[in-house]
Amino acid sequence: MNMEFLDELGLNTFRHNELFASVVSGTQSQQGQGNTHCGYSPIDGMQTAQFNLATPEQLDAQTERSIAAFNQWRTTPAPIRGQFVRRIGELARQYKHQLAQVITLEAGKILPEALGEVQEWIDVCDFAVGLSRQLHGLTIASERPGHRMMEQWHPLGPVAVISAYNFPMAVWSWNAMLGLVCGDAIVWKPSEKTPLCALAIQTIVNRALDEMPHVPKDIVSVIIGDAAIGMAMSQDKRYPLVSATGSTRMGKSVGEMVGARLGRSLLELGGNNAMIVSQHADLDLALRAIVFAAVGTAGQRCTSLRRVIAHHSVKEALAQKLIHAYQSLRIGDPRKEHVLVGPLVDELSYATMQNALHSAEQQGGKRLIGGERITNNVPQGGFYVAPCIVDIEADAEIVQQETFAPILYLMSYDTIEQAIEIQNNVPQGLSSAIFTESLKEAELFLSPEGSDCGLANVNIGTSGAEIGGAFGGEKETGGGRESGSDAWKNYMRRSTNTINYGGDLPLAQGIVFE
Ligand code: NAD
Repeated sequence: MNMEFLDELGLNTFRHNELFASVVSGTQSQQGQGNTHCGYSPIDGMQTAQFNLATPEQLDAQTERSIAAFNQWRTTPAPIRGQFVRRIGELARQYKHQLAQVITLEAGKILPEALGEVQEWIDVCDFAVGLSRQLHGLTIASERPGHRMMEQWHPLGPVAVISAYNFPMAVWSWNAMLGLVCGDAIVWKPSEKTPLCALAIQTIVNRALDEMPHVPKDIVSVIIGDAAIGMAMSQDKRYPLVSATGSTRMGKSVGEMVGARLGRSLLELGGNNAMIVSQHADLDLALRAIVFAAVGTAGQRCTSLRRVIAHHSVKEALAQKLIHAYQSLRIGDPRKEHVLVGPLVDELSYATMQNALHSAEQQGGKRLIGGERITNNVPQGGFYVAPCIVDIEADAEIVQQETFAPILYLMSYDTIEQAIEIQNNVPQGLSSAIFTESLKEAELFLSPEGSDCGLANVNIGTSGAEIGGAFGGEKETGGGRESGSDAWKNYMRRSTNTINYGGDLPLAQGIVFE
């Protein structure tokens, strides 16, 4: 495999002997002292890197360095902090292609989607730079004469970021770019499956740090570790905020540990996303949206479409269109032009998909197409599958689960109220969509009686959100919101200030205490 892009990014500066560093910031590039860990490419199973994982002691030392950096950074004016983020964004633009290649190598995403992920990082930089001149609080009317009330937003502290393999750069950027302009230090534990993506990001950050001596060098750091490091971060009181993205199982564990010390957690967990296709839908538009949302990233997006709830009068026609579209999908090496579906991340993911299909069939599901492993015309050693559609009843138990693979469950409904109920009747609440030309149906779907998800779309698929909106979901998706809108408030602490500029001391609520 041609890996020149790793050299172009300067990743070899983190290689000591044969092992990559596991603790990296602007001041440190240390090997880990824990167990040996190898990274593998989903493309062909080839080993891509070898590490010793970081230990809790190494995390502890980095946490101290990050606190020192935070103490300096929090007094740097926010617009100056924004200049650092702007420079990071410029460098991400410059190295966009190489960065995307690292994503494809480690996460198996097709190159256009990997380029889109880097673009998301670049866009978040632009957004954060603008925010660095905002971060505004309110002025509030005081009930007392000669008094003024206002609120200020102050930097929070070092923020622990734990992330999943499937968005190995974008999720970090949502947290880090906003956290940095908000005045925080960022300590990142990426997925063990995508360590080179994290080191690639740190090379970009370190380049910006080299050019900007006023920025504390430990303000951004990476710790390559396993779940034990994530747990240590979750229990550590020095992190006022733990932002964790991944499975609901992981989020429950992190949420409990952070909650036990009354810290803040920002959880972005699994989805079980649905699209209602009404009898009033433009079926061709719906078809295009379904295919991208269900098979894009080989079904490995938190917002991947898992369930289509089609009106009984259009279900059969839609099924036929979908089967036809699935037959022409190009599955294979994600680096090749025109390929639309790359590999699953690993063998476990493949086994999980097969188990889910087995359960679906046992529960009365009928496979309409796909599901099998593909071994012809694909790199050997990778787990390539044909995206699958299963016709199933809405009350089948398997439909309640998120299986992180390209399985689409197709079910039918009679009334719009019933469709909304089916859609909401799962433990997760991330992304949802309706395809309809009926204004009434669309408005009902968006109303308080409608979708209970964090993202609810009309005539747009469930995946591919823009960075300007707040991203996240309800129920077992964790309730967190990242990226746009006012998500920046997660990374700051609010201080309500009352100032008495008069000569008396009136008490609130008219209390007389004399
Ligand atoms: P995962 O839960 O296996 O791992 C995610 C991260 O959590 C990794 O860094 C892992 O090392 C760490 N971790 C695991 N157990 C932990 C624990 N007990 N304490 C602390 N850290 C722990 O998830 P994955 O397989 O990498 O990613 C797929 C999952 O992520 C899917 O469920 C997907 O829906 C979800 N996801 C959600 C979003 C979102 O924004 N809602 C975005 C991307 C992925």
